[in-house]
This record gives sequence, C-alpha cells and structure tokens, in this order.
Amino acid sequence: MSADILSDPNHPHGTTEGLRLGCRTVHCPAPVSCREVHYLYQGDFAFRRAIDAGLTPTEAIEAAKAKATRPETPTRPVKPIQSAPKVRAPRVREPSQYEERLRALHAEGKFDTEIADELGIRRRQVTNIRDSLKLPAHRGIDPEAVRKLHAAGLSDRAIAAALNKERQRPVHRKSIYGVRHRLGLKANRTPATAGVSSS
Ligand SMILES: [Zn+2]
Repeated sequence: MSADILSDPNHPHGTTEGLRLGCRTVHCPAPVSCREVHYLYQGDFAFRRAIDAGLTPTEAIEAAKAKATRPETPTRPVKPIQSAPKVRAPRVREPSQYEERLRALHAEGKFDTEIADELGIRRRQVTNIRDSLKLPAHRGIDPEAVRKLHAAGLSDRAIAAALNKERQRPVHRKSIYGVRHRLGLKANRTPATAGVSSS
C-alpha cells in the first residue's frame, strides 16, 4: 500500500469505502480507521445500522456500545443454585389466643380499654390485634347519641352519616353496629340512603 493513500485528502478515510479503495493499515488518519470501520460494519449490526443511518464511525461505535449495554433480557446476577435456603423470619404477631375473645368483645361494642381489662392485656395490644383483624375502633362514639338516632329509626349507616357531620374522624357503620349491639338495640332496617331528617 502506498503512502499516497494515507495523505490523499480525497481518499474516503474512515468510511466503509476506505478499505476497499486500498487503506488497510492502522496508520489510517481517520479517527476510526478504514479497516476498523470495515470490520465493524461487517460484524456489528448495531454499528452497521448507525452508519447506514448517517452517523460518523465514532458516533456509530457509541451507538453500538449503548445498544450493547441495553440488552433485551435483564442481566441480573443469577442466584447460585447451591445458595442456602432462605430462612423465613418468624412474623412478629400478637398471640392469636386473644383473637376470638377480642372479636366477641368487640362485637359487643366494647372500647379497646374495656377489652384490654377483660383480656388482661395492654390497650395497645388490643388495638394492634383489633387492627390486624380489620375491626374498627368503637372509641369516641357517644352511646346516647346512637340511642337517640336509633330511636328516630335510623339504620347503622344513617347513624354513622349523622354522627360524621359533627366528627373530624369519621366513624364507620360497623362501629355503630357495635355500639348499638352493646346498647341491646335491634337494627333499624331503614334504607341506606336515609338521612337524619327522614325518620
Ligand atoms: Zn483509511
């Protein structure tokens, strides 16, 4: 190969044509030699696509690299098969021995403090168990208010709605059920849409 090609300003160095037209050396003046461009173009599809799209060889190499670092399948390290079996940490949970009795006492409309007294555990424990059972708290509901609204013929849902007009923390229908139950009152079967004034 003659040195003319290397110094020839008209030779398409650093292109796919460069090697075919005679530049086969690492001394190619292009940032990416004709030879490298040729081999990348033949061997790297991402590079080829980038070149065909009009990118310079330097840009095409970057594009091909970026593509290579974004594989289609995640490359998270595969868990070794012989890894020790995961020891499941025991779930910290309140003892279930209280659950059934708590549920029964709650159904009577008792407050957490009262349930705690009956079960001989702390109120905080009662609250935790009650929460885990997804039972609403009865606290803060005035039984006399429930009695009055009940006497007016309201359903639990309507009583809750009536009380919630005055409350910051809304009370659930189920809590009304508990309080009413505790007061020994039977449910009023008024429509769910009944308001206070519709008694
Ligand atoms: Zn060249």
